[in-house]
Amino acid sequence: LTQLFRPLDMLGMVYRTIRQGLIDMAEMFRLLDTEVEVPDVPCAPALVIRKPSIVFDDVVFGYEPDRTILHGLSFEVPAGEAFAVVGPSGAGKSTLARLLFRFYDPQSGRILIDGQDISQVTQASLRASIGIVPQDSVLFNDTIGYNIGYGRDGATREEIEAAARGASLNSLVARLPKGFDTEVGERGLKLSGGEKQRVAIARTLVKNPPILVLDEATSALDTRTEQDILATLHRVAEHRTSLSIAHRLSTIADANRILVISEGRLVESGTHAQLLRRDGLYAEMWARQAAEADALNEAAE
Ligand code: ATP
Repeated sequence: LTQLFRPLDMLGMVYRTIRQGLIDMAEMFRLLDTEVEVPDVPCAPALVIRKPSIVFDDVVFGYEPDRTILHGLSFEVPAGEAFAVVGPSGAGKSTLARLLFRFYDPQSGRILIDGQDISQVTQASLRASIGIVPQDSVLFNDTIGYNIGYGRDGATREEIEAAARGASLNSLVARLPKGFDTEVGERGLKLSGGEKQRVAIARTLVKNPPILVLDEATSALDTRTEQDILATLHRVAEHRTSLSIAHRLSTIADANRILVISEGRLVESGTHAQLLRRDGLYAEMWARQAAEADALNEAAE
């Protein structure tokens, strides 16, 4: 009988692996424009993380052979630090996140996590180590508990509840008629943008990855909600290595280091204060955003 069940076990494992892959794909929804399969090298070992540092070492990449997007990008995020990536639209910020998740391989150069070349380890182990909190989270037509538990196969109810508390979703869940068993999504309860993002944060907490990629919210949220969510994200990022892709500079002023990318090159890097003193591209972007915010405030008055 055991002989009979072994293939079924295998099938179950394959199914779970594929499903986890799909979840991650869904999470990468905004970051991912095209699906390109990158194969694992034969007999690839799993990524083993003790100190989750990230290194981009002279990375050259383009989606098409005749158009280079990243022109020899190099930087290091030491384990446990919170870095932010900023730069004009089209600079290559999302591309960098896609490469870290290995949806594509660089044309030359290497990407290392804890000293291991990510192209030489299994994708399953790589993707299990990185949590993505996208700005537009995909919700499934199922219960809110299921949507949170999707972060990791086999998550227990206790883990789901703890994650909901960590993402400050517990007061919302307490108000719902069926609690964690309330249906959400298109055919159930519609959640607001901020609530959906909290579900994504809770999913990430269930997954408990050592590395976080945060695709920070744009104007979809009101300022108060945004501040609340940011506070939650900062709490979740503690004790992990994080890379925030920032669209609005106001949200990343307290990052350990800010990487300024322009046309696929690292043009400046430093803390918010250092970059302002430098009076370069970052200072210019900061001044422009401040002027825009002032204009909006005046229009509102
Ligand atoms: P934004 O802040 O506007 O999101 P970004 O810095 O994240 O911009 P990327 O999305 O990384 O920019 O895009 C960098 C460049 O790569 C852009 O010129 C874009 O047109 C191009 N690009 C992005 N995805 C693809 C793709 N799948 N195929 C071809 N070119 C692409």
